[in-house]
Amino acid sequence: MGAPVITPDELTDLDTPVVVAVETPLWSIIKKLREKGFRNIVPYVFIIFDQEVDEVDSANHYLIQSFYYEVFRSKKNNNSLLSIDIPVTMRCSLRCRDCSNLMQYFKKPRHADFEQMKRAVKKLFDLIDFTFDVRILGGEPFMNPDLYKFIDLFHAYSSKFAYMWVITNGTIIPDERNLEALKNRKIFVRISDYQNPRQQIEKLVSVLVKNGIFHEIVPIQAWQDCSRIQNYHRTQEENEAVLRNCGVRDTPTIIDGKIFRCPLSGSAWLLSILPPELYEYVELLNSNDSNDSLRRQIQGLMRQKYLKACNFCGNRSINTNRIPPAIQTGEPLEYDIYARI
Ligand code: SF4
Repeated sequence: MGAPVITPDELTDLDTPVVVAVETPLWSIIKKLREKGFRNIVPYVFIIFDQEVDEVDSANHYLIQSFYYEVFRSKKNNNSLLSIDIPVTMRCSLRCRDCSNLMQYFKKPRHADFEQMKRAVKKLFDLIDFTFDVRILGGEPFMNPDLYKFIDLFHAYSSKFAYMWVITNGTIIPDERNLEALKNRKIFVRISDYQNPRQQIEKLVSVLVKNGIFHEIVPIQAWQDCSRIQNYHRTQEENEAVLRNCGVRDTPTIIDGKIFRCPLSGSAWLLSILPPELYEYVELLNSNDSNDSLRRQIQGLMRQKYLKACNFCGNRSINTNRIPPAIQTGEPLEYDIYARI
């Protein structure tokens, strides 16, 4: 842009237009500049946002999301979400020992019920104004032959989200109907590359390119060692720190007509891994509560300092032990119902 890059302390002329170019803490710097009297402030992410969507790669998507995240966290009565996870199936073409969404424990994995999801998504979009991302995932989403129905479902709500991601392990080539549904400027296919043989990913990429479908390959070198569900006997302060540092603390997940705060707590509920009183969710369906009440319940869930489930979660912070990704296990893993309370 040719504009000089200077620190906030070097700014003196209150009429100077300021482009704030830090990633975080963007929002607090804008606040500070406003307090000093600057009025013409533009967060750089707004400039990126003006780009054509096909120029938005994952790097600047994360920058935009981080800005949105700060806005989201700073507002008190905000009817928007950072992201929504839609697990369309618990079936997977891999069985990874350390899957953070707990797929390795499902003995009889099943697909999500489309009609039920349709009603739950409608209800959720009646309740919220906006979500930055919609993430379609599994298991492996392309295992569900009706994936296209789930994607099409969101077309009616496209003004309510910025991006949709279909997150795949790259082992399955989508069929024609699913490819057709993916041809949309808001939809990106994110391929997690676990450094396995590359032929299948290359084949998938060539099909996506041929069909003009936006996609990216994300090389995954390590996972967090977080999928062992047991009673960690943490104090309240420790559980609050676990949630505060959790990478998926703002990733509500719709499962069986309920909204959970994170994918792990939703999967734990499906598996009955914890005693019933330890699950926290909002009933989107089968509830006589008014929309206002449900909105308050969702806001309350998203603002809890920790979940009861956090005490049983291996911890998804950046400090959690790193392990090799996608180590395969032949059979579903055993687990203790009620996680050795
Ligand atoms: S249970 Fe708590 S720490 Fe674990 S993934 Fe969910 S929010 Fe994060």
